[in-house]
Amino acid sequence: MASSPITPSSSLFVDKKDVGVSAFYSQAASIPFSQPVFKNGVSKKIVSVMAPQQSERRPSTTGGVKTGMTMTEKILARASEKTQLSPGENVWVNVDILMTHDVCGPGSIGIFKREFGENAKVWDREKLVIIPDHYIFTSDERANRNVDILRDFCTEQNIKYFYDIKDLGNFKANPDYKGVCHVALAQEGHCRPGEVLLGTDSHTCTAGAFGQFATGIGNTDAGFVLGTGKLLLKTPPTLRFVLDGEMPDYLLAKDLILQIIGEISVAGATYKAMEFVGSTVESLTMEERMTLCNMVVEAGGKNGVVPADSTTFKYLEDKTSLPYEPVYSDGQARFLSEYRFDVSKMEPLVAKPHSPDNRALARECKDVKIDRVYIGSCTGGKTEDFMAAAKVFLASGKKVKVPTFLVPATQKVWMDVYSLPVPGSGGKTCSQIFEEAGCDTPTSPSCGACLGGPRDTYARMNEPQVCVSTTNRNFPGRMGHKEGQIYLASPYTAAASALTGFVTDPREFLQ
Ligand code: SF4
Repeated sequence: MASSPITPSSSLFVDKKDVGVSAFYSQAASIPFSQPVFKNGVSKKIVSVMAPQQSERRPSTTGGVKTGMTMTEKILARASEKTQLSPGENVWVNVDILMTHDVCGPGSIGIFKREFGENAKVWDREKLVIIPDHYIFTSDERANRNVDILRDFCTEQNIKYFYDIKDLGNFKANPDYKGVCHVALAQEGHCRPGEVLLGTDSHTCTAGAFGQFATGIGNTDAGFVLGTGKLLLKTPPTLRFVLDGEMPDYLLAKDLILQIIGEISVAGATYKAMEFVGSTVESLTMEERMTLCNMVVEAGGKNGVVPADSTTFKYLEDKTSLPYEPVYSDGQARFLSEYRFDVSKMEPLVAKPHSPDNRALARECKDVKIDRVYIGSCTGGKTEDFMAAAKVFLASGKKVKVPTFLVPATQKVWMDVYSLPVPGSGGKTCSQIFEEAGCDTPTSPSCGACLGGPRDTYARMNEPQVCVSTTNRNFPGRMGHKEGQIYLASPYTAAASALTGFVTDPREFLQ
């Protein structure tokens, strides 16, 4: 896939060090697993209601560190009960959570039953999370059948975490139903520092925001995990991305990851871990860290990872009572490359059709007329994404010029859209602001038209239109029509574009 010839802000890309396998030493000192590293190498004790507790598993190193390891190497070492691990090593990893959904679940279940027997039991009924989310609100019989297969399997196996939907006419009548798997996994407390989370979906990497190893796997691998709770994984080398500088208030994490993917291309991190650190990353909320990690697979990354910190622990306080144990890269950890960015100088970006690395400044595309705007998905359909869009609409006081579709990722996000006051609005909710701006009414939570879906999917691109979207992929046909053109953008840029009918830099309304 072609990389963008445009390098709109290459001066922002401060430095890349090719440090091979031995030259890079971070500032942080080597520390035990239970003590997170803060900047300047100072290790602090976490004072948290959900302070990490000792797990029953042995740590990957004991006593003095022999050879420094990255976070990713440490997590995989511990999960494979080894004391030392290097990039390229294949290890049998114990899986903490396996997630599957309505698209890949039936296939995975079929493989599990074929290989382990019709009456076989899954390895752990409490470590499997099944989330119907992709093709839900459709009359397509095959899509509906897929959810039925999941339901039958969960009943048969007594699966603890099945987020079912039975009444398609009213999602609110289904209290168990969540919505988009990657956002639901976080909201329901299945993402925990130091653990291994696998999912039959490429954007499973989203959960790396919690300082865990999270990656997408295929149906065959998932069938094997269902039977054994293990998987053979090759340890990836790690690329380190250091993002420093105060984030301008017209930027969001989507701009950061578009900047990075534009820099390294869609193949730049193939089978590599992408570790995000630096003062900017430390200042991001969990939802923004999720956006950052969500798109590492668009650069070919095996996984993305952000060191767990007080923000992480605070988020988890009311979401899980299970013990977890974060890990951090050693001071002597070996990184394949290090990339540095000065975020304070960045500008709002888009990824032009038809590749996530086709980066351009939003203001460079101001002559691109658009037909629609889509705000949703695991990347851009979280509560803070809708808050951001509402902020732009509120600041403008204008009405949208093109159809603007709003698809909350989960039922919780939908409730937030209808209940949380938008700062500076005098108590208005996002839904009120969207209505005043002339947007479509926020619809039932699901993947929606992020990946096209059956033809009757809400907001699917059934015509060769031009769309600004907060989703993560802009390949031909991704949202429906194969001649559709998708500009990937942040919720700020998407909302600003809706107000003008052209790709628009959000500073037009936010400053
Ligand atoms: S919202 Fe889109 S990218 Fe995310 S899981 Fe669903 S289909 Fe995949």
